[in-house]
Amino acid sequence: MKDLIMEMEEYAKDNNVPIIEKKSIAYIMKLIKKQNIKNILEIGSAIGYSAILMASCDNDINVTTIERDEVRYMECLKNVKKANMQDRINVVYQDALDINLVDVSYDLIFIDAAKGQYTNFFEKFKFFLKPGGIIISDNLKFHGYVGNKDEIESKNLRQLVGKLENYIDFLKNNDEFDTEFIDIGDGLSISIRKDDNV
Ligand code: SAH
Ligand code: MG
Repeated sequence: MKDLIMEMEEYAKDNNVPIIEKKSIAYIMKLIKKQNIKNILEIGSAIGYSAILMASCDNDINVTTIERDEVRYMECLKNVKKANMQDRINVVYQDALDINLVDVSYDLIFIDAAKGQYTNFFEKFKFFLKPGGIIISDNLKFHGYVGNKDEIESKNLRQLVGKLENYIDFLKNNDEFDTEFIDIGDGLSISIRKDDNV
């Protein structure tokens, strides 16, 4: 297992795959154990690094993870097999915004895909969250660009960062969820659905 994790870290580095930072996944794993989280939905598998680490928190955790890039999807399947987690990690090859989920609900939804689509992912998948469930998003600092938009020369990048800033405002002003922003790694947000009875 340790070897596989190191192998994936090396592959990610060599192939420019933006896997989560170690400190961030460590934080998420601690939260999974503490909150006794069992059913996880991940948007953005890449090569399966975060999915495998989340599933490794306990033997009865199930992860569904969605990836739209074929090469990464294939690599993810390979790694899930190597981890011997094919019974617990379901890798779906599709664009998350096109997917139809029915009759499922999750304790945790981890948003880690196209940064310009975070609000859309949140609004689509919040309906598949159990009461009291948690939505975590990664890369809210976007390598320090968030909050420093004026210094960015590329128009595309500036737009993307603008969308992440809008997402942060969306979370801050969201009445259904309480959000905490954690300054760890590339920036995490932890959004907890408020109790319906309050
Ligand atoms: N969670 C992974 C890293 C994911 S990187 C880890 O930490 O190990 C982000 C991935 O999201 C990329 O592989 C990209 O192809 C995928 N992605 C981006 N937009 C997507 C979408 N709309 N649907 C599915 N996958 C998407
Ligand atoms: Mg990430």
